[in-house]
Amino acid sequence: MKDSVASPRSLSIEEHRNRVLSAFESLEVLEVPLSEALGRTLAGDLPAAVDVPNFDNSAMDGYAVRREDLIGASDAAPVKLRVIEDLPAGTSKTPTVAAGTAARIMTGAPIPAGADSVVPVEDTDRGTENVAVRVVPAPAAHIRRAGTDVRTGELILSAGSLLGARQLSAAAAGGAGTVKVRPAPRVGILSTGSELRPPGSALEFGQIHDSNSTLLAGLVTEAGGEPVLLGSTGDDPGEFVAMIERITGELDLIVTSGGVSVGAYDVVKAVLAPIGVWFGTVRMQPGKPQGFGLLPSGTPIITLPGNPVSVFVSFEAFVRPALMKLQGRDDLLRSAVPAIAAEAWKSIPGRVQFMPVRIQTRPDGRPEVRPASSGGSGSFLVANLAKAQGLALVPEEQLEVREGDEVELWVLQ
Ligand code: AMP
Ligand code: MG
Repeated sequence: MKDSVASPRSLSIEEHRNRVLSAFESLEVLEVPLSEALGRTLAGDLPAAVDVPNFDNSAMDGYAVRREDLIGASDAAPVKLRVIEDLPAGTSKTPTVAAGTAARIMTGAPIPAGADSVVPVEDTDRGTENVAVRVVPAPAAHIRRAGTDVRTGELILSAGSLLGARQLSAAAAGGAGTVKVRPAPRVGILSTGSELRPPGSALEFGQIHDSNSTLLAGLVTEAGGEPVLLGSTGDDPGEFVAMIERITGELDLIVTSGGVSVGAYDVVKAVLAPIGVWFGTVRMQPGKPQGFGLLPSGTPIITLPGNPVSVFVSFEAFVRPALMKLQGRDDLLRSAVPAIAAEAWKSIPGRVQFMPVRIQTRPDGRPEVRPASSGGSGSFLVANLAKAQGLALVPEEQLEVREGDEVELWVLQ
């Protein structure tokens, strides 16, 4: 049967993804210093250990004053106050500002007792013994109150958040020196195909460069995993079996590409189907032939088709969510946003189409998309995949996308 009619036994994307996801649990929690936590996923809620800010402090370089002393102050009639103390940031001095006095204060220094406002240095004569103030400050002017950012015990970050630079700085500000995270999943990557040669090597007729290993290693890293390059094997079953048996070290997942279709030399399927790995089709384009199961060692294996665009789309649909689950991430799927098709393209009935697209913002602020390659969603268009900024998803029943149609867009960062 041709592509136009889906085989009744082929799975929907959600069915296959749910089957894959059900084989994974979150990895064991470990505690690491903040300096080692970038890109990891937080394993538990993180409450603030201290108030942020920790104490009332000045938002300006200036003078801590009692506002009532300055009523009536102006350019023409400045009010003179005696300066009782100099308070740089980091000081532990705790003077009391009494009537008629002020403390010189720098940004970040604690507000002394008695003071209720800060006058910026620009509104004074900058005196050090006495200071002439030319304005009446607003009540509580330029004072940053303790706990206004976050209070002790309040949540700074919730379990399942991705720890980027801003999240880690929030943790540091809130008093954390270490965080509980899930480790990077270790993912073995194996390319199959007798035509493959390593990147950069000279090609003989009929050979191609293995780009999938590079693609998968990068995608794994971008998804927070640690790629373990296992190399590539030819389409000889003996060679493939030897490669699988050679795999040592703890891997959380193995991802292969190639050799899962209905060709005469589809080695991955030929070797693994007899030992219980599932092979079948998923109603998607590209990426129709898929496989998934456990090796005798218990290691999960996701077997992707060989075409590079299929590898990418399949990674997004199945592998990335599995890596998110291993890391305990709260968002297993990329967020989907509606977008407008800026030009027409053909789709395939009975399968969800993943079209690599370029994204632009329309004058009304909505995103519009057009195919990243004039060749469309052809699964061999690896070089054009580099131009894609997103994937447009076209539903199974739709035969074509017309200009102006709404599509679902996965934005790729
Ligand atoms: P297969 O799924 O093995 O039939 O491969 C489908 C297509 O993808 C063929 O044109 C292969 O040459 C190509 N292909 C398979 N593996 C790779 C790879 N690692 N890098 C680039 N292209 C590949
Ligand atoms: Mg092949």
